[in-house]
Amino acid sequence: MKTSENAHSERLPNVFVVSGPGGAGKNTIVDRVLAADPTLRESRSWTTRERRPGEGEDAYTFVDSATFEAAIEADRFLEWAEYVGNLYGTPWPGPVPDTDLVLVIEVQGARQVLERVPDAVMILVVPPSRRVQEARLRARGDSEEHVQKRLAVADEEEQVGRSLAHHVVVNDDLDRAVEEVAGILDGYRRPPPSASSPSEGIA
Ligand code: 5GP
Repeated sequence: MKTSENAHSERLPNVFVVSGPGGAGKNTIVDRVLAADPTLRESRSWTTRERRPGEGEDAYTFVDSATFEAAIEADRFLEWAEYVGNLYGTPWPGPVPDTDLVLVIEVQGARQVLERVPDAVMILVVPPSRRVQEARLRARGDSEEHVQKRLAVADEEEQVGRSLAHHVVVNDDLDRAVEEVAGILDGYRRPPPSASSPSEGIA
């Protein structure tokens, strides 16, 4: 990744990174956690991937490769990565008072965020098994080629993710996983008055 001076980071809110292999269920979990807490907001990523059938137009900012590459050159991304043949990137977040930011991104991007935003907290979401992961990938309408490519990189993603993550959540039961992720975020955002924060510098 092209590196740049880190002048942007002083304007950043608290950053939570939720990562994990495709089909782990991280978007579903984060959607549920955010629906219950208006002081959390999710970044809208850019991608060169085609929109899936039935996928909302606002799921991503869908762009062509030339537009994405021009944005890389202009240093418009906090992080970006190539994932199974497409580019994905998080635009530098603007300041929004009294909200914290949640990024739902793959592990190469998570690594970049942790390097650039040292106080960022990373939660790795993993599926209970590859069989369950495969079923989830198929259920969302990915092409067979995309399903196979995502499964092929899953072991490595999980391994890298575990080496980076502050917390690992197994998405074996959605309600339970949502509760666990919400509880982890709460722990950083509302430290007990008598104790110091679990991660210095995170409000
Ligand atoms: P999908 O094509 O299934 O929507 O996304 C593929 C992978 O890219 C998922 O793991 C998703 O979380 C991740 N992703 C989505 N947005 C971004 C982003 O802005 N940056 C990075 N590095 N990964 C992203």
